[in-house]
Amino acid sequence: MTEINISDMLTNYDKKNLTITTVCSHSSLQIFNGARKEGFKTLGIAVGEIKRFYDAFPLGKPDEFFIVDNYKDILRYTDELSEKNVIIIPHGSFVEYLGAKNFLTLDLPTFGNRKVLLWESDRRKERKWLEEAGLTMPQEIKNPEDINQPVIVKYHGAKGGKGFFIAKTYDEFQRRIEKNKKFTIQEFVMGTRYYLHYFYSPIQDNAYKLSKGSLQLLSMDRRDETTIDEVQRLGSIAELEELGIHPTFVVTGNIPIVMRESLLPKVFEMGAAVVEKSIDLFGGVIGSFCLETVVTEELEFKVFEISARIVAGTNPYISGSPYSELIQPDLSTGRRIAQEIKYASKKDLLGEILS
Ligand code: ATP
Repeated sequence: MTEINISDMLTNYDKKNLTITTVCSHSSLQIFNGARKEGFKTLGIAVGEIKRFYDAFPLGKPDEFFIVDNYKDILRYTDELSEKNVIIIPHGSFVEYLGAKNFLTLDLPTFGNRKVLLWESDRRKERKWLEEAGLTMPQEIKNPEDINQPVIVKYHGAKGGKGFFIAKTYDEFQRRIEKNKKFTIQEFVMGTRYYLHYFYSPIQDNAYKLSKGSLQLLSMDRRDETTIDEVQRLGSIAELEELGIHPTFVVTGNIPIVMRESLLPKVFEMGAAVVEKSIDLFGGVIGSFCLETVVTEELEFKVFEISARIVAGTNPYISGSPYSELIQPDLSTGRRIAQEIKYASKKDLLGEILS
């Protein structure tokens, strides 16, 4: 990875005139709305044309659009963008559209620690990080012939659960697998899913204290995935599978949720351990991150994935969640990001939270 030097990037910046910038998709309405609430200017990078639906949401619309022909063009316009003092807020679609390699070398100040991408995008490294932090992940089945329980087969690089399938036997696996694609087989964890939205600040000590900085829990959601979440309206999965209709895991939306309060200490222990380990491994997962979990009937958490930036599951909480209301009224993840940038800018600590 080419080293990007954040102080070089900020040299010519007018720190009193920062512009919160992201790609118009994913959680951009929330990011622009949160930035606006904290008094920032906002810039939306859009491909091809201004998206008309932003006019329908004046409080989520960026002050200005920056139109590019395709996402990769962002790399060509870094000079123009840095003249506008942009701070990039990456979200899942931003990284995907730009491409991981390009994102790592993008010559613009970016919220969070970009090095995390090398750990979350490689399933082996991700497992090392989370397991060394003491979290329990679903068991991995190395040899498909060993399948003797329901498993989920995940293709590498597939986004939003695309193409994933469930198999209960080796035979079923063989019938469904696309042989030319790389895959991982995981135990299918039975339980209820919770996607936990944390915020780690390395520069503020006013929340759950860590060796450096502190941790907040801003919200949680459950993803709505088609067709698995509704398929039973047509009949049992077994019945449908006999007809060749298999459930799929494509994310279509997010549902707000809260968890029984007695589980919250564990939620904080897990988040804290993930942050502490990340500090050892690559200097820390900074800002928003999400642990994707299943809680079993023994009330144990199994963590199947980490997303190391704002997730779309925070979108139901533009005006706050049952958790963020206990921190400050009207606090979304987008707004919390803007607050962190504002605080760091005031204290001359931008180098601690940008990369
Ligand atoms: P993204 O990158 O958007 O988070 P992804 O393509 O990496 O998604 P996962 O999040 O790993 O995919 O999984 C997609 C969905 O499959 C999950 O939201 C969950 O519903 C289900 N799932 C994943 N792993 C397991 C598991 N081990 N047991 C039960 N369900 C699982």
